[in-house]
Amino acid sequence: MHFDILTLFPDMFVTPFEESILKRASSQGFVSIDIHNIRDYASDKHHVTDDTPYGGGGGMVMKPEPIFRAVEAILEEDSSESPPIILLSPQGRVFTQKVAWELASNPRLVLICGRYEGVDERVRESLVTDEISIGDYVLTGGEIPAMVIVDAVTRLIPGVLGDPAAAAKDSHADGLLEYPQYTRPAEFRGHATPEVLLSGNHAAVELWRRRKALRRTYERRPDLLRLADLTEEEQAFIDSLRARGE
Ligand code: SAM
Repeated sequence: MHFDILTLFPDMFVTPFEESILKRASSQGFVSIDIHNIRDYASDKHHVTDDTPYGGGGGMVMKPEPIFRAVEAILEEDSSESPPIILLSPQGRVFTQKVAWELASNPRLVLICGRYEGVDERVRESLVTDEISIGDYVLTGGEIPAMVIVDAVTRLIPGVLGDPAAAAKDSHADGLLEYPQYTRPAEFRGHATPEVLLSGNHAAVELWRRRKALRRTYERRPDLLRLADLTEEEQAFIDSLRARGE
């Protein structure tokens, strides 16, 4: 997977990709990331990338020309692919684990980070193929959303996580939140690890985990249960929680 990230603040990306799993994913060749400074594609001598909005109002708007030129130059290097060109925007479709899986199926992604009051509308109209929001709030720029997407997508690439099945067991992978996790010591400040997890009985552990995942989702995110793929027995378990008023 190759990521091209277009930004006015390339230095923001120096350390986030240099730690832990993302660093290993990159050094082992699972991902490569190019950070492109939009300012380098401004044609005037002062490298201006923003201007005041037509119609008045405060703030600045990112000019279309440097963004178009940056994307065109990047894609010209390898015209064999037409990767998704994604604008990070609080007005985009909301990024979820499902969207992360969808993006992970591409060999290449182009991510455009907005700043200030956002980007000129013509970038949205005729350059980008997708707009993604990381949630219903407004950040100062698209750099952190771009990092969120790179992180969430990279860990789904086969081989990146030590345990190949780990991503499939995570929260949101199958529409449920994950079960509670424990590690040593078995007892900590009077709080014991559930016996079943120490029993060595794998079937009992799996059943306990599934029930806990169902209960946790029911308690914290009942909205997710509407779309979760549950067996009849699991649905009956949820119904019993509801009937008991838990
Ligand atoms: N005026 C814009 C609006 O109301 O829709 C918000 C602009 S915001 C201050 C500047 C940039 O930050 C945006 O162009 C976008 O790239 C990024 N951004 C802010 N919040 C975001 C979010 N929730 N998800 C993705 N990108 C976001």
